[in-house]
Amino acid sequence: MRAINHAITGAIIGLTITNPIALPLAFMSHYALDVIPHHGYDKPPRSFAVFKIILIVDILLCIALVAVLGIRHPSYWWLAVLCAFLAATPDLMWVGDFKKKLIVKSKEDLAKRHAIVRFHFLIQWFERPIGIVVEIAWALAAAALLGVLLSYP
Ligand SMILES: [Zn+2]
Repeated sequence: MRAINHAITGAIIGLTITNPIALPLAFMSHYALDVIPHHGYDKPPRSFAVFKIILIVDILLCIALVAVLGIRHPSYWWLAVLCAFLAATPDLMWVGDFKKKLIVKSKEDLAKRHAIVRFHFLIQWFERPIGIVVEIAWALAAAALLGVLLSYP
């Protein structure tokens, strides 16, 4: 899933649980969301420039989420920010691959990787361009729920 969907889900977990137990739950939510069919590429993208633009927009949306939480300042906003961050962090394991423009292409490539990388890769069983529909639906539903949560003092 896109980082903003992980982050907004983490923020919702923080705002609803309002207890530090939300932190590991937000982290684990990352893997639960990655099981859901989502956007990805059937094959390596032709242009890493496009991939980079999508990544930058995703990061800007996450920064906007933190800004909204800071401005609206609901109870436990700080927990929501931490949970948003933790929910998105597992994908930081792909930063090294991104820098090397490396994409796992085969089972042989995958077999050479760390067990956590293999797990994270394999749970994303449906990562295709059409998954953007699920991503948008999730983002809209999560944004609506976050809006409701932020409407309470
Ligand atoms: Zn992930």
